[in-house]
Amino acid sequence: MVIGATGFVGRHVVRELLLRGHEVVVVSRNREQASSVFGKHVYVMAYDAFVTAQVAPKDITVIVNLAGESLNASRWTRKRKIRIMQSRLATTEALSHFIAAQKTKPRVLIQASAVGYYGVSTTATFTEDSASVGNDFLASVAKAWEERTQAVQSQGVRVVLARFGVVLGADGGALEKMMLPYRLHVGGKIGSGTQFVSWIHMDDVIGMIMWSMSVEDVFGPVNMTALEPVTMDRFGQVLAHEMKRKHWASVPSIVLRLFMGEMADMVLLGQRVLPDKAIKHGYTFLFPDLQSALSQLIHPNSK
Ligand code: NDP
Repeated sequence: MVIGATGFVGRHVVRELLLRGHEVVVVSRNREQASSVFGKHVYVMAYDAFVTAQVAPKDITVIVNLAGESLNASRWTRKRKIRIMQSRLATTEALSHFIAAQKTKPRVLIQASAVGYYGVSTTATFTEDSASVGNDFLASVAKAWEERTQAVQSQGVRVVLARFGVVLGADGGALEKMMLPYRLHVGGKIGSGTQFVSWIHMDDVIGMIMWSMSVEDVFGPVNMTALEPVTMDRFGQVLAHEMKRKHWASVPSIVLRLFMGEMADMVLLGQRVLPDKAIKHGYTFLFPDLQSALSQLIHPNSK
């Protein structure tokens, strides 16, 4: 079962599960949209049926929960911040009631979270063993979101907390937005440029989700980030190089804050996160370094 399946990551998860021959139940607030995205290949369960803990159309063995109000859609007003938080907590709370109502319990829940959990720092390196140093909005969302999975875990379900870094894909997410200034020949260092970007290629997100479904001794937080986080300045240099554009001196923080409000913190502040658990448990990265990841995403047909 995939909740939040129609989103950027969810579409890839569903596609991969279908490719691997699994039957997939998709939970969506918009059944028509979900049916038009996935056609007849999936069972669509209405979000309302899910939150009222109705019985699923099929026995569920694995759940991937990605659902939540978009972080990027518009400026973070007070009202939107409440929606960002509440949509995630409500869905994850509903999940434990839903599981309790099913005759067959799932083996594993892969629960989306974010490296924002750790808070921001230009000097620290965070692994799954690190405590959070953050009390900013994103850190508080990630912490509360993860805490809500305890009610699922207490039903004997293995829970993997997928702390996603910035997911880089060719069909949405942050990369499109990061490429835009370079397309317009105005791309450059954002803020100080020393803030870290803990990125991950979409193929590795999917790879790690599939891997953590099957490796039974993987549980708890798993940093879904590449082996080589980079500074924002370095990220811009590699991006400019791949796009054959110039990387200009700087886009001042104040300009971004003016346009984006508190949401600007997503690009002005960051954290250096390493995927220790994936390394220790033997996950093999498809795109360990930024240059190979961006090259594949920007020039998919070369080589
Ligand atoms: P998207 O915003 O693309 O998709 C999220 C999905 O959640 C939507 O397709 C929608 O599905 C559902 N949704 C939207 N609003 C609500 C709501 N108010 N209540 C319940 N469900 C809602 O997210 P991504 O695919 O990019 O990311 C998946 C998750 O991972 C997100 O929760 C995100 O915060 C987190 N994450 C993503 C990162 C990234 O770089 N992409 C980085 C770090 C964390 P439907 O309309 O079908 O119900």
